[in-house]
Amino acid sequence: MEIEIATIGGYEEVGRQMTAVRAGDDIVVFDMGLNLSKVLIHDNVQTERMHSLDLIDMGAIPDDRVMSDLEGDVKAIVPTHGHLDHIGAISKLAHRYDAPIVASPFTLELVKEEIQDEDKFEVGNDLVEMDAGETMSIGDKNELEFVNVTHSIIDAINPVLHTPEGAIVYGLDKRMDHTPVIGDPIDMKRFREIGREDNGVLCYIEDCTNANKKGRTPSESVARSHLRDVMRSLEDYDGGIVATTFSSHIARVTSLVEFAEEIGREPVLLGRSMEKYSGTAERIGAVEFPDDLGMYGHRQSVDRAFERIMNEGKENFLPVVTGHQGEPRAMLTRMGRGETPYQIDDGDKVIFSARVIPEPTNEGQRYQSEKLLGMQGARIYDDVHVSGHLRKEGHYEMLDALQPQHVIPAHQDMAGFSGYVDLASSEGYKLGRDLHVTSNGNTIQLV
Ligand SMILES: [Zn+2]
Repeated sequence: MEIEIATIGGYEEVGRQMTAVRAGDDIVVFDMGLNLSKVLIHDNVQTERMHSLDLIDMGAIPDDRVMSDLEGDVKAIVPTHGHLDHIGAISKLAHRYDAPIVASPFTLELVKEEIQDEDKFEVGNDLVEMDAGETMSIGDKNELEFVNVTHSIIDAINPVLHTPEGAIVYGLDKRMDHTPVIGDPIDMKRFREIGREDNGVLCYIEDCTNANKKGRTPSESVARSHLRDVMRSLEDYDGGIVATTFSSHIARVTSLVEFAEEIGREPVLLGRSMEKYSGTAERIGAVEFPDDLGMYGHRQSVDRAFERIMNEGKENFLPVVTGHQGEPRAMLTRMGRGETPYQIDDGDKVIFSARVIPEPTNEGQRYQSEKLLGMQGARIYDDVHVSGHLRKEGHYEMLDALQPQHVIPAHQDMAGFSGYVDLASSEGYKLGRDLHVTSNGNTIQLV
């Protein structure tokens, strides 16, 4: 059987991930993501109304025209998890393929919301829910399996396409977490089995986000203790405390909610995406928040919540808000500019349970946001966080578990691949032979 991989997007950047695997006549597409920084750099771009081709020209979504080079039928579109760089282009591209979108429950809910928000295209693909540990047939000869992994969003999986020539393991995105705060640990046992069964692993496509970093990415439970330590130290502070994190990071939001109550404060989730992700997670039963937890997204209801906080005394509350990257329109930035009813006073605390995504736009915006907050007297707790991506030692462990014949680094630019090339080379892989560094829009014939 012929096996071919098309590296469509996310091989020159972190963002707009998309990869297609052709096994005989069957094609499976993994991820259809957005490169948000290519959108945000323009003022007031509303992607909901934009045409795919314009977004492709902007570099915001994958250029899927290379798909016409693959001879076969797309049988499934498989987003690995709910981050926008993996699902954000589904509403722009999926309708071009006569195939179902297959995803884990939380991911599928977020995909539904993306499709509902879309103004330009009707996306009528079937939506199929599949849990980690389950499989489905792809044509007569291939099978798709979801393996549970751990990442900075719940319900992340690594899809595996079992073919007669061996397994194709699509390894985006994960860290190796044996004590995640929500959900099951990463299923390393299954990865080891797949590495040793039948024809083994023909190809492994890997998330290289942190491949240049030594050591091991800590577990979410480490971030949780760090956060608890910070918050317990503020137990006696009788002024304002505000926290921010990734809205989609449900495990972290849960910890913030829990520790707020531990130190006698009422948590309130504020901001459009805070309401969206936590509301979705609660609705599908992925998480249980306190019954009376306030979540407000719309500008007016957020301002009303802030007014209540100010009236009842801000020492009784923990607002958990959007704006961890200093995004100009997010809640924390608005608070820094004094545009909300929430008054920041000298000595008030702001906890960033996130790190700055190392990219000039983010770094500049975050700098500005911190300066604004500082001018009002806020004191900053930075980087109460762990990454969702494997570092070097995790990559070694994955290669050891899977023992793939071919490896394709992804989810980075050329500089970002270098650390992975070094470590894969030290494991006996050879660039150009079985270690394929590539760029967007290429195909690699494996069999
Ligand atoms: Zn991700």
